[in-house]
Amino acid sequence: MTKTDTLLIENGRALLPGGDPHQGERCDILVQNGAIEKIGTGLAATLAKDGITVETLDATDRLIIPGFINAHYHSHDTLAKGTMDETPLETWRLLALPPQYPKRSREEIRARTLIGALECLRSGMTTVQDMVTLYPFDPEHFEAVVEAYEEIGVRAVVALQYADIRGIETIPFWKEVFPAEYHPYLSTAAEPDKKIDQLAWFEENYLKKPKAGSRVGWALGPSAPERCTRALIERTAALAKTYGLPIFTHIYESKGMALQARLEYPEHGGSLIRRLEQEGLLGPHLNLAHSVWLLQDEIEVLARTGTNVVINPLSNMKLKSGIPPIRALQDAGVSLALGCDNCSCSDAQNMFQAMKLFALMVHVSDPDPGPDQAGRALGAATAGGAHAIGRDDLGRIAPGARADLVLIDLKDPSYVPLNSATRQLVYTEGGRGVDTVLVDGRVVIRHGRLATMDQDALLDEVMAVVPKFREDFAVIAARVETLKPWIAEAHKRIWAADVGANRLFTGV
Ligand SMILES: [Zn+2]
Repeated sequence: MTKTDTLLIENGRALLPGGDPHQGERCDILVQNGAIEKIGTGLAATLAKDGITVETLDATDRLIIPGFINAHYHSHDTLAKGTMDETPLETWRLLALPPQYPKRSREEIRARTLIGALECLRSGMTTVQDMVTLYPFDPEHFEAVVEAYEEIGVRAVVALQYADIRGIETIPFWKEVFPAEYHPYLSTAAEPDKKIDQLAWFEENYLKKPKAGSRVGWALGPSAPERCTRALIERTAALAKTYGLPIFTHIYESKGMALQARLEYPEHGGSLIRRLEQEGLLGPHLNLAHSVWLLQDEIEVLARTGTNVVINPLSNMKLKSGIPPIRALQDAGVSLALGCDNCSCSDAQNMFQAMKLFALMVHVSDPDPGPDQAGRALGAATAGGAHAIGRDDLGRIAPGARADLVLIDLKDPSYVPLNSATRQLVYTEGGRGVDTVLVDGRVVIRHGRLATMDQDALLDEVMAVVPKFREDFAVIAARVETLKPWIAEAHKRIWAADVGANRLFTGV
């Protein structure tokens, strides 16, 4: 008898919960209807004895790991990888974020979503948490994002990024430093959109019409607390409760954001964390991206409320934001996830780079050796990301979990000899070893190539929209060049202020 919707992954070496983190366990994995049914040895023989034939996938010389969860990502600027060198966060905003750009075409939205998803899949990510800004908002653009994810086959949790306070109001000194003629250009990640109530549209068209069996799910994306009024935060909390949704937001990415809290929220002791606690947003459903400039008492509030933190090492370093207090968060018991953030500032959707920097940032944060970080980095990239979206069936290889799996080539020089699979994944691997990627038991990447779509045709679609993107980017880059004296002045004033912590090494 041939059993359909069943796949047997044979002769692999898997990293299992509670198993050997260095050598893994030799095993077969039986997948049924997209979920892991059984893990054991000799499963093929057992099936044969019962006269059952199933599709098989040979995992000889392959390390099987849970698919990574990119817990903080924005698909809106995937075409901007490699466009910048070291750039302070406040300058980067003016170069990279959608409110700076004229309206994009539907074709560009589709192409940029696909190329981002392809890069994520190729580096072993099976889930992306996409906090996407679509500005000016057009329902067709949202549909293009969702369709692209469904077509390529990655698991996606999509949140529209929104705000109701203008960017210029939320960055210290911008209003007073810049001449008034430039104020319309001083936007951030999301700007108030007066033409359409995005949240109401999203609720009506998507939240109220759940699609069974879709790998695309939803979250809510208030851009950052200082960009949202109390009413908008409370509306977010209520919607999250009604529909059981995770919430993604940004907190204290840069020193400027911490300073803004000190200046604008004296009634909350200058703390956005205390403000969010009072407004009912903290809790296990909330993902706080970055958290670089958290203070110790705020870390304790996050631990007490079970709030998740998503570390983004690549962008935090490139944008001169600083080193987040990872050890303090770990010691307090805060659940950590890992993200690769925007392509314009992380450049790579590569969880191996993110894991390595996560561990190395901890190493330079304390002169004394601390607990091993490789396992913690891998945990943040897998189970931590799953926890952040309330999914205990992702981020681990166990019966009942979804079969979101990555097969790594153990013949790659990175693993020869195999001293510790966990450490070599984190410290040695660059992404070269990712061979096969499965989402819901379906092969999406096979031997490094996209299996769900014509990869060459996808690249052609991307290249067709690149000239227009480059043309617009050049105009924006020239504008930012003229703004630099005032950007520098605001930057200098931010760095001269005391916010009660220092997260950037200054050599003193
Ligand atoms: Zn972000």
